[in-house]
Amino acid sequence: MLLGDERARVCEYARRMVTDGLVVGTSGNVSLRSGDRVAVTPTGVDYATLRPEDIPVVALDGSAVEGSLGPTSELPMHLTVYREAVDPDDAPITAVVHTHSVHATAVSTVTDEVPPVHYILATLGPSVRVAPYATYGTTELAESMLTALEGRRGCLLGNHGTLTYGADLPSAYHRAQQLEWACQLWLLARSAGTPRLLPRAEIEHVVERLRSYGQR
Ligand code: 13P
Ligand code: ZN
Repeated sequence: MLLGDERARVCEYARRMVTDGLVVGTSGNVSLRSGDRVAVTPTGVDYATLRPEDIPVVALDGSAVEGSLGPTSELPMHLTVYREAVDPDDAPITAVVHTHSVHATAVSTVTDEVPPVHYILATLGPSVRVAPYATYGTTELAESMLTALEGRRGCLLGNHGTLTYGADLPSAYHRAQQLEWACQLWLLARSAGTPRLLPRAEIEHVVERLRSYGQR
């Protein structure tokens, strides 16, 4: 079986999205790249029953390589990230996570940028934009996402959800979780009063500081 390890990881993280509450049902999708091949969740399939052999493998142009199920309807977004997105630190991009996490999606309906309410947002970039709405699964949505991702490791998709990427699946997934957490925090703070926001210069300072975070 081609990309056996990658297909197993895609299954594992697709299930995690459901158990961690980042998606409901068959919403959201996950992919992992190896060279010019991409293992990606199938469209419309319950993640609980997924086995590695069910995970479609496609080429970077979207053509099928292996697997009997059709790839996610959001293949244009995943492949656009692999082909065209540039990590702010020029890190390789090998994993993409798309969720419908509820607080992040709520925030995507009321603002054009995630308010800088917490420094953790600097893990995604100096700000997190909201990509203007386009119908799910379209190249218009992929283009809207790509513009919002410029210089960023993730974005919100207007009235739809989140998109994050990383050098590996844990990083891309962790960013989706942090983005959801920060959006929940903002909504909670706003329900209690008017949140104080961090100045842009402080977020940029943290972007620099995070470059050495976790290094001993
Ligand atoms: P798929 O089941 O085709 O992956 O679609 C889920 C989704 O989130 C579409 O935006
Ligand atoms: Zn979606």
